[in-house]
Amino acid sequence: MARPLNAGVAGPMTGQMEGLMMVTPLTLGELIIPRAEELFGHRAVIARVGDGVHRTTWAETCVRARRLAAALARLGVGPGDRVGTFAWNTHRHLEAYLAVPAMGAVLHTLNIRLFPEQVAYVVDHADDSVVLCDRSLLPLWRAVEPRLSRPRQVVVLPDLAADDSAAAQSSDLDYEELVAAAEPLAAWPQVDENAAAAMCYTSGTTGNPKGVVYSHRSTVLHSLAVGLADAQGLSSRDTVCAIVPMFHANSWGLPHASALVGASLVLPGRDLSPAAICQLIESERCTLAAGVPTIWSGVLDHWRRAKPDLSSLRFAVCGGSAVTESLSAAFEREIGVPILHAWGMTETSPIGSVSHLPVEPGAEADEATRRSYAMSQGRAVPGVVLRVVDENGAPVPRDGVTMGEIRVRGPWIAREYYRDGAPPDKFADGWLRTGDVATIDALGYIRIVDRTKDLVKSGGEWISSVELEGHLMAHPDVLEAAVIAVPDPKWDERPLACVVPRPEARGRLTAEALLEHLRPRVARWWLPDAIVFIDEVPKTSVGKFDKKVLRARYAPGETAAPLPVSEARG
Ligand code: AMP
Repeated sequence: MARPLNAGVAGPMTGQMEGLMMVTPLTLGELIIPRAEELFGHRAVIARVGDGVHRTTWAETCVRARRLAAALARLGVGPGDRVGTFAWNTHRHLEAYLAVPAMGAVLHTLNIRLFPEQVAYVVDHADDSVVLCDRSLLPLWRAVEPRLSRPRQVVVLPDLAADDSAAAQSSDLDYEELVAAAEPLAAWPQVDENAAAAMCYTSGTTGNPKGVVYSHRSTVLHSLAVGLADAQGLSSRDTVCAIVPMFHANSWGLPHASALVGASLVLPGRDLSPAAICQLIESERCTLAAGVPTIWSGVLDHWRRAKPDLSSLRFAVCGGSAVTESLSAAFEREIGVPILHAWGMTETSPIGSVSHLPVEPGAEADEATRRSYAMSQGRAVPGVVLRVVDENGAPVPRDGVTMGEIRVRGPWIAREYYRDGAPPDKFADGWLRTGDVATIDALGYIRIVDRTKDLVKSGGEWISSVELEGHLMAHPDVLEAAVIAVPDPKWDERPLACVVPRPEARGRLTAEALLEHLRPRVARWWLPDAIVFIDEVPKTSVGKFDKKVLRARYAPGETAAPLPVSEARG
């Protein structure tokens, strides 16, 4: 029987000839799990749990996923039911990544770094039926439980020895017992490719967190994209170290993509110290590792002291916040590993753009040009349509200078939030409004200038906090720097820099020295009016600079509402 073409997109097709290819579902059970199981069963899955390293294979992981699916079904989890996970990056969490979507339920990864009230809000909002919780996180979970509207069945993942103080309650179930008692599911059920596979709540800079719901189709297509050479080029020859948490935008899609292409997967568990990460990369000869800039600057510091062998890495994938020039240059020149800069959001699954050097003539002309491309957020990956637009939604000139808001659309971009619809400040005319302000050049490379809400508006002109931070962090005595806007009676807003000196420079580094460093690098009116020295830049639950906290401290009374791009362009 003929299907209505373009169903759900533009209404049934009229007047066009139908293509005669199979319409097989783009689902985990059809396309991802069977490849990991049948073709790459021997490839390794390595997880650090407790004090040791657990070694298994994709074959074993898939069998255990089949057991887990059967066990969850026995607990009453049915099609469309949400299963929460409150867990580190481990092999058991990976089993849930496969089992829950493939059985037709929905994997809901909970951010373990949110406040208990926020976790409770998210669990209730998604209406999770069961929660898989690492034993080491039980104390945190116990603080969430009294805030829930109703009790949830907890299944404890034993990532610590049983005699550890984080004891389970009598109502909790033991993951290993459930998995051992269940017969592996013989076949995955038929699932619609547009059915929900997973969900993840945004880290929520304003208001309550918002639920992004990934479909099987979006997950499969995103996984294919991660394998493209102009994205991460993930293949069966890779050993991937997924440092980015599995609760942060599906660990940037790496677990599902690794299963699809047959890459070995290394999961670091609880210890995200630079020494522990370097040790894993070194011992497992990882070819690709992914984390936010704070992870990589910690790794750089550690490397300078201990010189671990990181030569197996093709790339250190870095995203979530802008990569600074100093980090990008130091990785390449000192360690000999290029940073691959990627941009995306929870709403974009998350890969939106990746920065590989262009092949176009002139791009490799000199070190400064190469560095500028390496530090840019790159070009949209195939499958993502990206525009940088002005306040009327019209594309800005591709001159690398004019600023506008990034808008994206594509098969792995959210079209609305779970039970919160499509607010017009986030979704417009079939596009996702990212809230990121950027320029775009003639080759399509974007350079993020700021979040709309972080730009500093001084005398009607705009100052990029990202650029100031990059320059400050290039100073040899600076560990971290965050720039915020503070109200100013004359100029409306002025930049204030919060600087963390390196330990050896504490008490020695002066504001004047930093201004001296900035003077040749930025326009005079960009120079911060004040520089305060702090012990640490507060971080969000996913390791980004939390400027909300700094604004509350140094610019009380500021509203957190995003600025419209019309104003952002001055
Ligand atoms: P999240 O949904 O928590 O992953 O946050 C997404 C936001 O992080 C984006 O809208 C950007 O503001 C920021 N972001 C992600 N990647 C980058 C990057 N490579 N450079 C600058 N900002 C980034």
